[in-house]
Amino acid sequence: MVTWLDYLDRAKEYHGHLCSGQILGLRMVLKGLSLLSLDPEKPQRDLMLFIETNRCLADAAYVVTGITIGRRRLIMYNFGKAAMTFLDLNTRQAYRVAATSHIKPAKDVTDLIGFWSQYADEDIFLIQEVVVPLKPEDLPGRPQRRITCPICGEDVLDGRDVNSKDGPICRACAGEAYYKALPLKRQIGPF
Ligand SMILES: [Zn+2]
Ligand SMILES: [Zn+2]
Repeated sequence: MVTWLDYLDRAKEYHGHLCSGQILGLRMVLKGLSLLSLDPEKPQRDLMLFIETNRCLADAAYVVTGITIGRRRLIMYNFGKAAMTFLDLNTRQAYRVAATSHIKPAKDVTDLIGFWSQYADEDIFLIQEVVVPLKPEDLPGRPQRRITCPICGEDVLDGRDVNSKDGPICRACAGEAYYKALPLKRQIGPF
């Protein structure tokens, strides 16, 4: 049976350094897989991951599962929390695993492997069985819905559009844009 120690080299190479986030992440993913009785050494065809941070921990999820964001089976909710939910699309069973807040190495601890080896999963994780409601358009596979936003002319897939008095529009045109466009002369493209 593989353990988190078997993944350390790969995690260090992929992430760039070995940190508590990698160790916690590797252990969290292996715990999630074992709760769902999934074998970490096999391709994860039925696993969907919900990751609550875009920090170190998230890279460890890729190292163990190989699941990439473009496969639509990795969803990031940036709640800023060291937690992940593991959903088996086949059985719909799901577990959320979160790091407890009271165990962390002091700043001067250099042996992180030694530090985290002292604790059992039960000491460092809170585990809940959960239900993750999914819409058909959230599932992996071909797009279930595609609209063209009448305001910007861009296509929106997977039901990510919102209703307006003019019909379905994209989230950016609905006022949810994370960017602000510069004046037209700075843009490139057909007008
Ligand atoms: Zn890191
Ligand atoms: Zn639009």
